[in-house]
Amino acid sequence: MSALLYNKLPNPQRGRPRGTYFDIFSKEASELELVDLTCSSQLLPTMSRPKITLTKLGNSINMVDTYYGELEDGSPGGLDVAVKIGDYYRMANEALRCQSMHSLWGKTILVCHGLYGLAAVRRQLGVLILERFGLTIDCPLSSLSRMEKTVLLNHILEIHSLGKILNDLQPRNVLESSFCSGDLRLIDFASDVESDHQCPRAAHPEHETFRFKVEDAGKEEWDFPAVCREVLNIAADMQYWDDGDVCLFTFEFKVDEVPSERVMNRLFPVNWLRVFGPSVQQTLSREWFRYMQQEIQAHGLQDTLDTALDKLDAWEKEHLPRYRRKREWMFPDLMGATPYKHKDGLVKIPYKAEGSSVVPIVSDSDSSDSDHEPESQPDGSTPSA
Ligand SMILES: [Zn+2]
Repeated sequence: MSALLYNKLPNPQRGRPRGTYFDIFSKEASELELVDLTCSSQLLPTMSRPKITLTKLGNSINMVDTYYGELEDGSPGGLDVAVKIGDYYRMANEALRCQSMHSLWGKTILVCHGLYGLAAVRRQLGVLILERFGLTIDCPLSSLSRMEKTVLLNHILEIHSLGKILNDLQPRNVLESSFCSGDLRLIDFASDVESDHQCPRAAHPEHETFRFKVEDAGKEEWDFPAVCREVLNIAADMQYWDDGDVCLFTFEFKVDEVPSERVMNRLFPVNWLRVFGPSVQQTLSREWFRYMQQEIQAHGLQDTLDTALDKLDAWEKEHLPRYRRKREWMFPDLMGATPYKHKDGLVKIPYKAEGSSVVPIVSDSDSSDSDHEPESQPDGSTPSA
């Protein structure tokens, strides 16, 4: 059985360094042979003429290219898929590992729709068709919210219950359906899974299957003696037990009062770093993030992020009435997020002239921007709310 798996991809080679990738779009590689359906979901075998159109190169890591595309069989409505192309045995290995965890498909790991073989450029390539699911998370695991860390650890426990343990969990191994959704899948752990981890410490003392709850993040590592040591190590590495504090830069906040570190990172007004000293930044940040946490609880995360710049304008008018702002920036890193994406990764708030006075707040001596050198106030106070 063979199937034509792609038809066209505009400029697939653009921007690729020469010689570091497989040219599957060359003439020799017009058809992909279906070699193994034992690693597959039931989807492809039921299709009479499956065709995959690759529309975008997602990433290219360690000689494995991941494309995004659409799977069709002639009937209306295609299915979004991710297609990994790399060394055949490597892809086959990944497909087999994926198959061995098929009970977790679509919940903890991606659904695998099939493995194909492809001869191209005198190399035997493997083509792995996977469910398309979101983007890799864009921050260290330690910056995730308690809820996200809890979901992630329970995914690891699901895999652990199959006698497997992940050895080196990285952000690139985690996909999320959308920013801060908490809907996560583990990926790309082909070489990092220890497969014969027969471990009795997966269960609760009451013989129930143990799963973490969000409030467990407020406990201590040694409160979980029945949980596998390796899983506890992963939890410790992502700073799951946070002692009730969350950090941004060197500032500490109470975890219940502010958003997660990854959200605060997006909401921090970068201009404050240049204008105010650390202690003032900390005071302002605490108030600002408390306010934004209340907004998130009241209106949801997406709405709060979408209106964050307007909220900052209004908040500064109230809390920093004499703060003359030339321009404002918020931290960025908005992979997949709209609408405040900027080409340099930063977010620009247009200048609004507001009065003629300079910044009214005392600054620590390390204020770095001489253009915005604020006037000192003898009492060192911040503006009143
Ligand atoms: Zn274990």
